[in-house]
Amino acid sequence: MDHQAVQSLLSAYVDKELREEERVQVEKHLAGCSECRKEQQVLRRISSGVVSAAEYTLPSDFTARVVRSSRQEKERMVSSKAVEQLSRRLVLGCSVAVIAFVTIGSLLQPAPPIVMETYLAGEPGDSLAARTLMTEGQLSKDELLLSVVIR
Ligand SMILES: [Zn+2]
Repeated sequence: MDHQAVQSLLSAYVDKELREEERVQVEKHLAGCSECRKEQQVLRRISSGVVSAAEYTLPSDFTARVVRSSRQEKERMVSSKAVEQLSRRLVLGCSVAVIAFVTIGSLLQPAPPIVMETYLAGEPGDSLAARTLMTEGQLSKDELLLSVVIR
């Protein structure tokens, strides 16, 4: 049997699936061909690995553990989603509150006091009237006139 033919039968040989006459011919070739012997060893290792993987038994609680961890993961995802939604609503609520606060504040702000320039046309900014206006915020016409006269 030639090298090619043996190569094609090696897997079956390793798995002991050859007829007796084929097995004998393969063994004859293996005795003289190092390449086929190496191939045979590789196939043996693969074959035994497959067998040991197939014989591996899962722990008895494997299914329960998978189901449990799957549920925990699902719960974790749901709760993180809820936290995310809550924080989004919180940010939105705070934004609305700030906007409302600013809007209401600007609406409730008292009308600006009578502007200095109205009473103090031509007066220097450091006059008593101006300083008084600056601190008091508002003056009646009489008070302003008095402060101008005093100056
Ligand atoms: Zn060979």
